[in-house]
Amino acid sequence: MTWNDWKWQLQNRIVDLETLQDNIALTEEEKVSFQEASAFFSFSVTPYYLSLIDRNNPNCPIRKQTIPRPEELVWNPNEVEDPLAEQKFMPVKGVTHRYPDRALWYISHTCAVYCRFCTRKRKVSKPEETPNREEWEKALEYFRSHSEIREVILSGGDPLTLADSQLDYLLDQLNQIKHINHIRIHSRYPVTLPMRITPSLCEVLSKYFPLYLVSHFNHSSELTKEACSAIKMLIQKGNVIVLNQSVLLNGINDTVKDLEELNYKLIRSGVKPYYLHQCDEVVGSGGFVVPITKGLEIMFELRGRRSGISIPTYVKDLTGGGGKVTLNPNYLVSANETKLVMKNYNEDEFEISH
Ligand code: SF4
Repeated sequence: MTWNDWKWQLQNRIVDLETLQDNIALTEEEKVSFQEASAFFSFSVTPYYLSLIDRNNPNCPIRKQTIPRPEELVWNPNEVEDPLAEQKFMPVKGVTHRYPDRALWYISHTCAVYCRFCTRKRKVSKPEETPNREEWEKALEYFRSHSEIREVILSGGDPLTLADSQLDYLLDQLNQIKHINHIRIHSRYPVTLPMRITPSLCEVLSKYFPLYLVSHFNHSSELTKEACSAIKMLIQKGNVIVLNQSVLLNGINDTVKDLEELNYKLIRSGVKPYYLHQCDEVVGSGGFVVPITKGLEIMFELRGRRSGISIPTYVKDLTGGGGKVTLNPNYLVSANETKLVMKNYNEDEFEISH
């Protein structure tokens, strides 16, 4: 087994403070917050993703996404454990069915790297949440019996944690359900574990065209040679249509320059920037949140001045499960949605025109 083997990378993840300190000099703040933060939401990083950290820069964008900081220990009043109310809309274990035409299916609760801003930190990384075979069958039965479902989104954790044969089985079962129009996979492995994209995985994925994969690149420095090769393989050998969603993150990608570089590099790599998400109000996320006013200003700068295909849609998933609203620099979509968006924000923060 070698560095380029995804199973080696997973088996050799750094998960504890001692091993992390053997690899990187932590700041005092990072040392202090590590134990408490990781007791609630596990710590894990692949050797590959760790190698991308600029060790001399405490503000390195990859470091900030990966290593707990004191802000994570602060739970603000507007923050909740399940901001998108995914548990409330769960008819069978592992399936969230909120919008009539699509369902989200959590087929794994493991990730290679646990992002400190994760919306699902309440359950991701917890082994008891990993769905078993019986639960898969119940979920499949649910999809078969609900003809209004046109799209199934494989999510997690990271769905690509599953073996090729397991993915093949699940994709095949979904593919046989006539009312399902298409399948989408959300994965951060092109970012944190690009060696997971192998010829054998692509052989499986290529059978299920049109298959959409949404990657989660947040910063241009994540688009390494390895990541770009993985994307190329997904597109050319896996026949996969690749889109990207980013989270707008304080001190990580919250400038016009950061997002321009990220989005141009995505386009250059064959990936369409799809969504830019306002960070969800999950517990301990305060250190990552960028004010909506600032996000709107960045989008205003980007739109109209940069290539249209490089511009994602800026959205907020409403806390409480109200769904996504578009955050548009020129207007917000309706008075009601405006009120919902602003519920947890200072109304003086930004001007609204309809
Ligand atoms: S990859 Fe996604 S599910 Fe996994 S920790 Fe990061 S944000 Fe959470």
